[in-house]
Amino acid sequence: MSASFDIRKWFENPKELLVISGPCSVESREQLLETAKGLSEIDRVKVLRGGIWKPRTRPDAFEGIGEKGLEWMLEAKQRYGFLTMTEVAVPEHVELALKHGIDILWIGARTVVNPFSMQELAGCLKGVDVPVFVKNPIVPDLKLWLGAFERLGGAGVKYLGGIHRGFVSYDETHYRNAPLWEIPIELLRLRRDIPVITDISHICGCRELLQEVAQTALDMGTIGFMIETHNDPEHALTDAKQQITPESLKKAFNSLVFRKRKVEGDDVILNNLRKEIDVIDDELLNLIAKRMNISEKIGDFKKEHKVTVLQMDRWKSVMEDHINKGVNLGLNEESVKEIFEIIHKDSIERQL
Ligand code: PEP
Ligand code: MN
Repeated sequence: MSASFDIRKWFENPKELLVISGPCSVESREQLLETAKGLSEIDRVKVLRGGIWKPRTRPDAFEGIGEKGLEWMLEAKQRYGFLTMTEVAVPEHVELALKHGIDILWIGARTVVNPFSMQELAGCLKGVDVPVFVKNPIVPDLKLWLGAFERLGGAGVKYLGGIHRGFVSYDETHYRNAPLWEIPIELLRLRRDIPVITDISHICGCRELLQEVAQTALDMGTIGFMIETHNDPEHALTDAKQQITPESLKKAFNSLVFRKRKVEGDDVILNNLRKEIDVIDDELLNLIAKRMNISEKIGDFKKEHKVTVLQMDRWKSVMEDHINKGVNLGLNEESVKEIFEIIHKDSIERQL
């Protein structure tokens, strides 16, 4: 039972892992209450989620049960003591959700890509004291996500959180939405005031990956989860492949490893290793600067001799050589490629 959970206190000091769970879509009173009953047996679950209006890619799919689902959410809240949470995409959703006692709102990944929608939602949330979580936009564009927080913050929304749900990617990946952890990490760096939780269900897209991604998220230091659960996942009207039963969620929690957020006491070993890393990072920066200086000299030479800046054959062989050497040193091929692509791009710009 979660009656005593105070979400505003959590925002002020998000120490306790926040677990939000419930069906992708609210489908019927029985489905919601049955799922909520199962979840009420997991102490960690404090918030019941349920999609009432579903943003579907194709128009012939189930688009949500609508307003009557909000009455069942209220019933589940009163029966099991959860806080409730739903997705809003237009001002009418906000108005109806609040009218039916929804405690927390989230804005979906498809809505966050649209600044008009975000501005409209910010406008209607002005003066409303409700916590709002913002999912990352489906495209890997951190600025859109930041912009959404700025619009809502500008409208006075005080309790703002982020939900990392992965990104659409054309690269082959076994995820439904590639996690691209560097994007939420960069958000956390730029906005220390915004707690970000992980929606493992929409990252994975299938049950089989959930445990692994949940563990990765915990190891990265996530402070909360959103996980879709359903009393009969195989027959769910939306996202059937990624939902799990509350019983499976309970089991999954039992096999996750929870790490401490900080080393207790003074840890000499860790501090010394960090000092070594700092020295190496300084050396790396100096070397990159030195490399850029040489690159500029090469640029002057090319100008003088009227040869093009980009020398494709040379670049191709340099890249192949570096990747081979890097792989032999035990480095990740993709990472070596990305590092040198960035360095090369900068070199080229200096020579233009
Ligand atoms: C959802 O949480 O069910 C949902 C539609 O999420 P997203 O906006 O991340 O696709
Ligand atoms: Mn879903």
